[in-house]
Amino acid sequence: MRPLVATIDLAAIRHNYALAKRCAPGRQAFAVVKANAYGHGVREVVSALHDEADGFAVASLEEAAEVRAMHGTARILLLEGCFGADELPMAAHLGLDLVLQGVEQVEALLAASLSRPLNIWLKLDSGMHRLGLCADAVRQRFPSLRTAAQVAELNLLSHFACADERGHSLTEVQLECFLDLLDLDFDQRSLANSAALLMIPASHMDWIRPGIMLYGATPFADLSATELGLQPVMSLSAHLIAVREVAVGESVGYGAGWVAGRAARIGTVSCGYADGYPRHAPSGTPVLIRGHRVPLAGRVSMDMLTVDLTDLPEAVVGDAVELWGADLAVDEVAQAAGTIGYELLTKVTARVPRRYKA
Ligand SMILES: *Cc1c(COP(=O)(O)O)cnc(C)c1O
Repeated sequence: MRPLVATIDLAAIRHNYALAKRCAPGRQAFAVVKANAYGHGVREVVSALHDEADGFAVASLEEAAEVRAMHGTARILLLEGCFGADELPMAAHLGLDLVLQGVEQVEALLAASLSRPLNIWLKLDSGMHRLGLCADAVRQRFPSLRTAAQVAELNLLSHFACADERGHSLTEVQLECFLDLLDLDFDQRSLANSAALLMIPASHMDWIRPGIMLYGATPFADLSATELGLQPVMSLSAHLIAVREVAVGESVGYGAGWVAGRAARIGTVSCGYADGYPRHAPSGTPVLIRGHRVPLAGRVSMDMLTVDLTDLPEAVVGDAVELWGADLAVDEVAQAAGTIGYELLTKVTARVPRRYKA
């Protein structure tokens, strides 16, 4: 077998979920498991949180059906609503909590005849300007939704654009916009993603929506997962499959872009961009071998990458290499590669086997 595996610590996910709940005492939580649970495997994550989670949140009907198959009673929130009126019967059949993110979705719902009424989450565009109705449209549509036969609970939801940047002025504007609608008689309200639920108690409302923090990564650029009390969940580990000496002036890898400035020892690692490791990670991005950070040297290839072992002479072929995990935060690798933990985790490809620790 190719020595590359993503080991996923399900106890750490439960720890992180419990932490989210402790941050917002008395509130309920939709555990966000879209995108195959941020790359961790939706079946295993839903099983791990089966008895704890108050609900789950997903991005499509297909994802919702997968969660429903594993959990007959959980509330399942469809974050972008139905992509067409033809999806409404299935949403009703699955008993979903349905977002209405635009007037077209509102009208489609009101025109539909459904097998049962649904819990509706009317989405307010409080300032992100991606999805949602503006405040006036929310007010205008509220009465007809309140009395509609298709609607069980009528709830209000919005999403922050900048909650990951502490003190950003837009966050305050969005919170105000949301609170301005408090006079409308919604049943439940939901506003906070991971960043907001960790930092902005005023945003907690009735339901929080933790995503990235469940997977042990930080939503913040300036605050680590460890500092937040989160436990790392995924360890991506490979092996050193070759080691060689290169002389001063010799190059390594595609494009011959890395050139040895001293006599160097180069290690080849069994992980590449076809596994989801970012191809744009520059030389210097750390990997972990024998507890030491070792820098990438040269371009990431499809199935392999190369590292400079010169300062770790004890490294030998067969050594374990952690690309990220318990001892090298995915956020640190993401920062070195100019991206965010979310992207690295969700992009681990299907050919990487997932192993689960209970
Ligand atoms: C993905 C998503 C979340 C979770 O966000 P995190 O930053 O991962 O906590 C919450 N709400 C909505 C609407 C989302 O799309």
